[in-house]
Amino acid sequence: MGGECVFCKIVTGEIPSTKVYEDDKFLVFKDINPAAPVHWLAIPKKHIPRLSEAKGEDRDLLGDLLLVVGHVAREQNLGAYRLIVNDGAGAGQTVFHLHAHILSGKEMGERLL
Ligand code: AMP
Ligand code: ZN
Repeated sequence: MGGECVFCKIVTGEIPSTKVYEDDKFLVFKDINPAAPVHWLAIPKKHIPRLSEAKGEDRDLLGDLLLVVGHVAREQNLGAYRLIVNDGAGAGQTVFHLHAHILSGKEMGERLL
């Protein structure tokens, strides 16, 4: 399904990553080109190309993804952080495997909207 997908290859270990958290359904790893002192990516291991392609059957997975983010943030003592999902190329999505950016470690007061 995600044969040529970079993040699927990170899930299988074909492409290396620095893992922050892993369980049977999710992986959190460091972004290779960080935009903040802490910049991690939280992904479901299941290949869902983008948020708007998630289905009703993915309800638990999407909910659990947020719980994993909260758990990892607590476990790693992030304190404040920002969570961003780019859905589509026009929003800046470049890797079409659903992921949430976890950003922290610098002034998070700037707002995009
Ligand atoms: P997006 O622009 O929302 O699709 O975000 C994709 C993110 O994946 C970017 O911040 C990239 O720096 C990051 N990225 C791409 N390839 C890798 C990789 N092999 N390991 C870690 N992060 C990656
Ligand atoms: Zn994938």
